[in-house]
Amino acid sequence: MSECSTPILSVKNLNKHFGAGCRECRDATKRQLDKNYCPVCSTVYSCQDISFDLFPGEVLGIVGESGSGKSTLMRCLYFDQEVTAGESYLTPYKDGSSNLFEESSQQRRFIRNQLMGKVYQNPVMGLRMNFSSIGNIAEKMIAAGSRNVAAMESRGSELLERVHIPLYRMKEAPKNFSGGMQQRVQIAKAMSNNPPILLLDEVTTGLDLSVQANVLDLIKHLQRELNISILLVSHDLGVIRMLADRTMVMLDGQVVEQGLTDQILEDPQHAYTQQLVHSML
Ligand SMILES: [Zn+2]
Repeated sequence: MSECSTPILSVKNLNKHFGAGCRECRDATKRQLDKNYCPVCSTVYSCQDISFDLFPGEVLGIVGESGSGKSTLMRCLYFDQEVTAGESYLTPYKDGSSNLFEESSQQRRFIRNQLMGKVYQNPVMGLRMNFSSIGNIAEKMIAAGSRNVAAMESRGSELLERVHIPLYRMKEAPKNFSGGMQQRVQIAKAMSNNPPILLLDEVTTGLDLSVQANVLDLIKHLQRELNISILLVSHDLGVIRMLADRTMVMLDGQVVEQGLTDQILEDPQHAYTQQLVHSML
């Protein structure tokens, strides 16, 4: 987690706009937006010049309200959505020399399957609800080139055990599981190919508080055990506080503050962050 080490992920000037823009809003230095959209042409500027580094073994929290652009940012990083402009470099991929957003769709699939895992707020996005739980894990391993059924079964049961799904339920479909269990199967699936980076998007939102605490605790343990790097998006500063080493605060498509999580909690600088911190006390 040392600041002098090389980042594992480096994102530069990521922009995501919905709409073509107009004379009033195309020039970023002159545009007058209403929150994140242009009142003249209704173009939405969801992510505006987002730059950050994620270091090996680090948990970077991204906090903001809905509409702040944090989930759009995650979708862009995982190629669920095309960026409008920007660069993303992954050290384990071509030694960090290639902008991932310019890679072919085939290479992006490789990166999604081998180098990143994502856990979605809505389990329907991350799981096939009618497949067995172990089948969900195998699917991601097959996508990454695995063909050995016995090896996949043993890896799958190891992962389900790690996330505390009882093995006698591994052939059951996630649709039969509680919300907390579904998130744990998603986590196991995301980790199936041992990616160095996990993207977690509001993974405990909507769960009961006690279940939420269990899932967060599980993530914390896995992170420490495997020294995995995590990007963690949440609207809930309590979730960020529990897991993130550093935090970025997003508002209306922009990063308004970033720093060590402790520092941000003790001495928030931006008015929006101050409001977030005070509402948590
Ligand atoms: Zn406009």
